[in-house]
Amino acid sequence: MAHSTDKLQTVPDIRDMLTRLISLPSISSASPDWDHSNEAVVRTLAEWLEPMGFAVEILEVPGMPGKYNLIATLGSGPGGLVLSGHTDTVPFDDKRWQSDPFTLTEKDNRWYGLGTCDMKGFFPLAIEAAKAFVDQPLQQPLIILATADEESSMNGARALAEAGKPKARYAVIGEPTNLKPVRMHKGIMMERLRFDGQSGHSSNPDLGRNALEGMHEALGELLNLRTEWQEKYRNPNFKVQVPTLNLGCIHGGDNPNRICAQCELHFDLRPLPGMNMETLRQAILNRMQPLAERRQLNLTFEPLFDGVPPFETPADAALVKACETLTGHAAHAVAFATEAPWLQKLGLETLVMGPGSIDQAHQPDEFLEMSQLQPTVDILRGLIKQFCL
Ligand SMILES: [Zn+2]
Repeated sequence: MAHSTDKLQTVPDIRDMLTRLISLPSISSASPDWDHSNEAVVRTLAEWLEPMGFAVEILEVPGMPGKYNLIATLGSGPGGLVLSGHTDTVPFDDKRWQSDPFTLTEKDNRWYGLGTCDMKGFFPLAIEAAKAFVDQPLQQPLIILATADEESSMNGARALAEAGKPKARYAVIGEPTNLKPVRMHKGIMMERLRFDGQSGHSSNPDLGRNALEGMHEALGELLNLRTEWQEKYRNPNFKVQVPTLNLGCIHGGDNPNRICAQCELHFDLRPLPGMNMETLRQAILNRMQPLAERRQLNLTFEPLFDGVPPFETPADAALVKACETLTGHAAHAVAFATEAPWLQKLGLETLVMGPGSIDQAHQPDEFLEMSQLQPTVDILRGLIKQFCL
């Protein structure tokens, strides 16, 4: 039988692991100029996890060549705990960084580098936590999950939900929350609304069908809907307690003396937990369709991306209670979205909690406070003890 020292011989320490992960570019972006494969990150994680006794599965995300999810499982059983992170980072602005984004740089008790906080830093800490358990018989499995494309399409998590993997009972997503448990966030929807009419000379309105006038009426309806939703839905856990609808940009027409033939609006909706995205889309459509028919305008209404559903785990859930006890902080709500809705879809009781601050995420000179390293390992070990031993 192998001793833990043998198993762990090839696994580097936290700092060396993070140095390696930061050095591997894995930007995900809707812009092809920026978009990278995350294969090197996933293979590197596998290289560390396999000698520790994890069974590693690497799954290509369907329809996305070069993008992979990794599921690493230690032990077996029907329940278990997932420690989940995304392998990709956002793009970066080279000129605004004071150090090389791909070199882990220590300064003032901080580790600087692209992805240190959001969120490659979570993997070395989860692996370090797992090291203490490699030679213990686990009653329930410990699963380390690494996803692709969280920062762009969330297609990695979407693919896992569709594949029905991984199966477990609990999941912690290590997004930067300063180690405070987070049990809810709003959803994100971005939608496109377009009217096509017919141009004509401005001197006679009968010569065309004005898309801009249709949009004027549509804007009024959208703001009415917003008022109705804000009267109906409120959640005091959020800083902005109501669902929001932001009119983001609008384009239409060409000349003052021509009837406007096309007008397009992009807007963003942030639903609260309990609001269903399809129901919201249908409510918008129900207002737009009669308006477009009356004005004889062609209506296009479609999502700009598939959206992130809102997320909530009950305050009295076992995982929430465990994380509150281990951290000494009450679970709260945040203003950013995560992969939590898809892990929930898999039947996992899910919570968001990890080292680092969201204030440093997506910023030049992103860093992770070194003072959070050991507390993270300790909290994760506490969770593994409670849910896997
Ligand atoms: Zn993140």
